[in-house]
Amino acid sequence: MHIRVGATNTGKGVYATQDIQKGSIIIEMTGRHMGSEEVERAIEAGKIRPDDPFQIKEDEFIKLDRLPYLFNHSCEPNAGFKRGVVMVALRDIKKGEQICYDYSAVVCTHCEWEMHCMCGAKNCRKTVGNIKTVPHKTRLLYKNLHLLPRFVRIEV
Ligand SMILES: [Zn+2]
Repeated sequence: MHIRVGATNTGKGVYATQDIQKGSIIIEMTGRHMGSEEVERAIEAGKIRPDDPFQIKEDEFIKLDRLPYLFNHSCEPNAGFKRGVVMVALRDIKKGEQICYDYSAVVCTHCEWEMHCMCGAKNCRKTVGNIKTVPHKTRLLYKNLHLLPRFVRIEV
């Protein structure tokens, strides 16, 4: 395994246990697939938190397995998603580095989700929300790398 769970300042995260080359596949997000009605019922019943399910299509979510669930957000991510569930390295990642993706690139455009960010990146957005909260330049980068799923629609 080229990744492991480790401690961060604020909880847990996922780290590289060896150098990972730009473009390589890091992991495929796995877990139980759920439709939006099932997600709503589970949230109402208090079984999952509103921001827990990982969205992969307009009406398809994954209740992530433990390891994929533990990836943290960064405003300057070193990983992103192709075809919704396949996480790839956006640049060379050194052994020991924490692997993070930009949550805003996978949250649906009309979702009102928001999170206070302490990722520590120079360009940290502090308040992270859907793709509309991402600076234009970064949006363009994600779009050009084909990292935005179909339910994340934005004029760039
Ligand atoms: Zn940040």
